[in-house]
Amino acid sequence: MKVALIGVGQAGGKVTERLTRFDAEMGFGAVQGALAVNSAEPDLQSLEYVDTQLIGADRVNGHGVGGDNELGTEIMQADIQQVMNALDGRVTSEAEGIFVVAGLGGGTGSGGAPVVVHHLQQIYDIPVYALGVLPGRNEGALYQANAGRSLKTIVREADATLLVDNDAWHEQGESVEGAFETINERIAKRVGLLFASGEAVEGVGESVVDSSEVINTLRAGGIAALGYATEVASEDSAENVNTAMSVSRQALLTGTSLPDATTADSALLVVAGEPDRIPRKGVERARRWLEDETGSMQVRGGDFPLESDRLGALVLLGGAERSDRIQEFMERAREAKKAQEREAEKTDPAEQFADDQLEDLF
Ligand code: GDP
Repeated sequence: MKVALIGVGQAGGKVTERLTRFDAEMGFGAVQGALAVNSAEPDLQSLEYVDTQLIGADRVNGHGVGGDNELGTEIMQADIQQVMNALDGRVTSEAEGIFVVAGLGGGTGSGGAPVVVHHLQQIYDIPVYALGVLPGRNEGALYQANAGRSLKTIVREADATLLVDNDAWHEQGESVEGAFETINERIAKRVGLLFASGEAVEGVGESVVDSSEVINTLRAGGIAALGYATEVASEDSAENVNTAMSVSRQALLTGTSLPDATTADSALLVVAGEPDRIPRKGVERARRWLEDETGSMQVRGGDFPLESDRLGALVLLGGAERSDRIQEFMERAREAKKAQEREAEKTDPAEQFADDQLEDLF
């Protein structure tokens, strides 16, 4: 699937850069153009592989918006024409979709990404998707509240929103910075493989997955999730029937970008590996298992021929918003928002003196 990428904010820029680099290093050629947009100049300066566009210089002078996502929205609205101009030519006539990438919990990406999606929808006929990073459970209340509002808006604007929970794709005990590195690398690899599946032309057989299957799976709209797992495989496909089953199970049950998301409107199972190692019977069995597990009648499947001694499963879910994880997150975001409002009331001078938690001296 040929795509154009726009990263908004710090996380958006870093993830976009990683994805672009992975695609170039693998020689896939799925990423046709990439742009990073930010109100913080230093964040843009650290990027090497993507073009950049500074916004809001007249308001924040290259210093970013802190965690103020309303300011992020305003700045993006004011400078949207500049962003659309910078993108011109990067959305090639071959592009089949545009992905707007952002951390939903911060300021520039959280507030700006929904605005970018909205304007792209007015201009381009191809689908406009979001790739959003959700704050992990231990990130602060401001991140949770910001992400809640951003998610609500971006889901409304985008054709589908692929979510990666920051708690999902890293090891326990890593530092936050270390974890970001790991998470970004995994996003790049997994989402990069999703883009590249459908681009494979060598050894084309009927079972090779096509870009349109990715697009059709995302047509369910709402929230999408991506799962991934691999295992060493035998050279003889007949011996890999159980392996195909077990990588597919792991991809959905433990390897997903949105933990516990298993109910979906649609799904796509891409089995990656050397064509000789891919067991037809195993793939078909795994596809049927996925139908049962997701409760979806629309489970597509296909191969992605790739040189490797491993067999990999990539599971894309469309319409996964009924998952417990999303309900739990939205609850957390609502709580954080209420707490913020209570804090704001307290700083109102009149309210401050009405605070009955502080007792009068006499
Ligand atoms: P912005 O620059 O104002 O858009 O803010 P950020 O992009 O820093 O957004 C903050 C949110 O993104 C928080 O939930 C962070 O945990 C998360 N975040 C920041 N940097 C990264 C990163 O490199 N990778 C990942 N996965 N998340 C990040």
